[in-house]
Amino acid sequence: LPDPEVAALTADDVADLLPCPDAESDKYRRGVVGIAAGSDRYTGAAVLSVGGAVRTGAGMVRFASSAEPVRLVRARWPEAVTTVLDPSLVLKSSLDEVGRVQAWVLGPGLGTGPEAHAVARAVLSTGVPVLVDADGLTLVAKDRTLLRRAAPTVLTPHAGELSRLLGVPREHIEAGRLEHVRRAAAELGATVLLKGSTTLVAEEHRPVRVNTTGTPWLATGGTGDVLSGIAGALLAAGLTGYDAASCAAYVHGLAARTAAGGGVTGRGQAPIAALDVAQALPEAL
Ligand code: AMP
Ligand code: MG
Repeated sequence: LPDPEVAALTADDVADLLPCPDAESDKYRRGVVGIAAGSDRYTGAAVLSVGGAVRTGAGMVRFASSAEPVRLVRARWPEAVTTVLDPSLVLKSSLDEVGRVQAWVLGPGLGTGPEAHAVARAVLSTGVPVLVDADGLTLVAKDRTLLRRAAPTVLTPHAGELSRLLGVPREHIEAGRLEHVRRAAAELGATVLLKGSTTLVAEEHRPVRVNTTGTPWLATGGTGDVLSGIAGALLAAGLTGYDAASCAAYVHGLAARTAAGGGVTGRGQAPIAALDVAQALPEAL
């Protein structure tokens, strides 16, 4: 029986929601997304998140991090405008040196130490929508005061990350994904996208959106980082957290299928790397 508490997006819904430039478009109006990700220890996640945003058609991607991830992002995505963050300014919660952004992505490969915490505080104190993923989720699980903000927040945990956010064993999350994603959205006052073989997107007072466009080949390191960049670009383009998260899950799954091949049946799909998903985004879109 149809459940009014659960909804699926169709290709037509997504096509209507996705931004498309017109003759009057300029890069600022298309959306400037800021990405605060990566650390000298973890650099790849930043490259993948930036790739997701660039290939989703962000007007501009501003990338802010420490020296090594900035070097690698510049080498792989010359389109991104990069800033090596000055730790003393970050401690003052100032991100002025980065320039204006319409939405932030926070967390992939960021680390969880005091410097990462300062970056998280600076990003979450801005008045623009923020998507929090990966290490960013670990930071907000340890310090929930970071989530006290007026602008929209989107959280993109897998079951393990949601387990830390809610303080509930992972097995309980797996056994009741719908219930726990709803509870997280209500308790944390955020849009929550729960990853897995199907993806659930919850927001208070809205039906949970279910996405099944993915493929099991997505179960490989780095694909979640690409998703964060896609959703960040859509947030910067002006979609609500709920629409940005659910459209991102839809096109991420479709891009993965496109990259894995196998035609409409999906039989004969081949392994994909996370960067392949980013590269297949234009075709999927
Ligand atoms: P992460 O856990 O952050 O690396 O993200 C992994 C991405 O792959 C998420 O978008 C998941 O929804 C997706 N994913 C993981 N396993 C599967 C699966 N078995 N089938 C479909 N999608 C998956
Ligand atoms: Mg991840």
